[in-house]
Amino acid sequence: METADIQARDHAHYLHPFTDHKALGEKGVRVIVRGEGIYLWDSEGKKLLDGMSGLWCVNTGYGRTSIAKAVYEQMETLPFYNSFFNTTNLPAVTLAAKLAEIAPPGFKHVFYTGSGSEANDTNVRMVRRYWDVLGQPQRDVIISRHNAYHGSTMAGASLGGMEGMHAQGGLPIPGIVHIGQPDYLSAGRGMTEEQFGIRAASWLETKIHEVGADRVAAFIGEPIQGAGGVVIPPSTYWPEIQRICDKYGILLIADEVITGFGRTGRMFASELVGIRPDLITFAKGVTSGYVPLGGVLVGQRVADVLVGQGGEFQHGFTYSGHPVACAAALESIRIVQDERLVQRVAEDTGPYLASRFASLDNHPLVGFTNSCGFVAGLNLVRRKGATLHQHEWFEPEKAVGMVCRGHMFNNGMIMRAVGDRMIIAPPLVMTRPQIDEMVALIRHCLDLTYADLRERGWVKE
Ligand code: PMP
Repeated sequence: METADIQARDHAHYLHPFTDHKALGEKGVRVIVRGEGIYLWDSEGKKLLDGMSGLWCVNTGYGRTSIAKAVYEQMETLPFYNSFFNTTNLPAVTLAAKLAEIAPPGFKHVFYTGSGSEANDTNVRMVRRYWDVLGQPQRDVIISRHNAYHGSTMAGASLGGMEGMHAQGGLPIPGIVHIGQPDYLSAGRGMTEEQFGIRAASWLETKIHEVGADRVAAFIGEPIQGAGGVVIPPSTYWPEIQRICDKYGILLIADEVITGFGRTGRMFASELVGIRPDLITFAKGVTSGYVPLGGVLVGQRVADVLVGQGGEFQHGFTYSGHPVACAAALESIRIVQDERLVQRVAEDTGPYLASRFASLDNHPLVGFTNSCGFVAGLNLVRRKGATLHQHEWFEPEKAVGMVCRGHMFNNGMIMRAVGDRMIIAPPLVMTRPQIDEMVALIRHCLDLTYADLRERGWVKE
């Protein structure tokens, strides 16, 4: 089929996630047909370097025959059976034990879902069930953060703090409230990063008092906010959040849908930022995105109540513990472990990416760069000031990030724009030479963006 035919069919029948369908129809959709390693090819034969691992998930890279084989063999043996009715299946059990082995200490149980959103819905139900069993059903409020992303189901979108999502459909649902995000760039003026981390964490305590400490069930956060723009909090933030949760006995949920399975150079980022969560949301990287799978890792405190005290938790999905998805996850995790991808990111390619990415700082269009393991971001700036908080940024209406993203895409580099912040989360298999290639490509596309913006009169010389 010709690209134009695919585009016409796509527009005629396929409603995409988070997309203005009419506008996309006018532009014509890009058709991705093949992947190998860190590269993708579109229907016109154009090669793209995938700086986003698909959507933060293809951690072991494209074209892994062994995952395809594991999936195929499982489909032949047992394509599906449910885990209701007192039954189980081998891949689901084996993966549960594997997850218990690689999770932070104290996580011995898992609840499977089909996606990250469903996993966060599960969290909402699970923490409420927990407090109910403990005889405190009034503890039903969950505190989250503005600009967080926790999925797109009713509960996932409510837990998230995306204004645009809340504006459509009367969200958040009752019992979910939000505090500010630990974004030093936008809110840390006049403070050191460390001071700001403590300040941002104190918003949690303020909110607990506002809601009433005996009403708060849990706090949820991404160790590093992904879709919100790779917001890497100051080192003081998470330990202080942990202290506050402990002080009030509030459950802590770490949403590791993006950060899990090695992205930050630890198997789970909770270990990196110094927290001991009670529940961990996972998805994406668990299968390297090859097939859908998500879930909740359940820590000792919650398991003691849910398992220890008995009674049915009236929750679950047809595809909870799907044997094919679990088989894919087992193989993906085997690759991560056998190829020492987590250690590589921690000790070799992560620090290398950090230094190469930071070299973009001297570009006239780059006001700020930072990274953590295999996530990184840069902010496009109109004019640099002497300090970070003196930079002149672009007006949001100009959507400069989208202009930059266009130049990236057109020149073979997939980099995502969140406002005027350009972000990457490359496959964990990316090598040093490929990092060099990527950073050179990013610089080239920044040059093209700069020339474009000068022509429009949007940058000051
Ligand atoms: N939580 C986080 C932190 C995410 O980044 C995402 C997806 N980007 C989700 C939850 C939702 O996952 P899914 O799209 O699989 O429902």
